[in-house]
Amino acid sequence: MANAAGKFGPYTGWDTRVLAGRGPTGTELVRSRIALRVRLRSVSPGDRLPDAGVLGEELGISEITVRRALEAMCQDGLLDRRRGRAGGTFVATDWDAVVAVMHDADEAASLDAFHLLLECGLVAHAAGELPDGRLDGPRALVEELDLADDPARLLELETRFHLDLAQALGGAGIREFAADLLGRQCLLEPAPAPAVVRARNRCHADLLDELARGAMDPAIRAVKAHQHAEPN
Ligand SMILES: [Zn+2]
Repeated sequence: MANAAGKFGPYTGWDTRVLAGRGPTGTELVRSRIALRVRLRSVSPGDRLPDAGVLGEELGISEITVRRALEAMCQDGLLDRRRGRAGGTFVATDWDAVVAVMHDADEAASLDAFHLLLECGLVAHAAGELPDGRLDGPRALVEELDLADDPARLLELETRFHLDLAQALGGAGIREFAADLLGRQCLLEPAPAPAVVRARNRCHADLLDELARGAMDPAIRAVKAHQHAEPN
């Protein structure tokens, strides 16, 4: 049934831009993957990025597309081009401040909803069929996260958990899909506070326990609880 906005289904406020039936454009891909790398701390503000040709090869897109995307990111202030012998394209030293200006709560909420749907689907798809050891990677991340103190490290591990989970439940292609969503989230919404990440980690642990015993409904409840996890 169509609602007043002419959209179908109960998902009022759903932003169909995240479901447009196409992959990200080359420019979106470069943006979200660089944002993801910053979150995962494989590059830091002030670091030089690999050359456009290398990035293009890593992302499976043309060098010219990467160049255009980097140029646009320079104009937005996310990156910084320096000329000369020590030149190149650098992550802006004030990356966090520039990103904060780009936050978009509506688009972020749509992405969160879509990511939740993806994880519920993966859990339903995998429940009861997971080979032994498949959850070892995500489980190790839950333990690391429990021991971590540094806020940036907590965020890195929180993001890596969801990438590893996507890989474990859906394979490499789904991991790439999740990477795209997570990278865009890094640009659209404020990073969760350390106490929220710790609360989410309890949901991660519950999820893995339920998955390991093949209990689909409780596993899905843990995925949903993660989205609203609050420090107690
Ligand atoms: Zn999480």
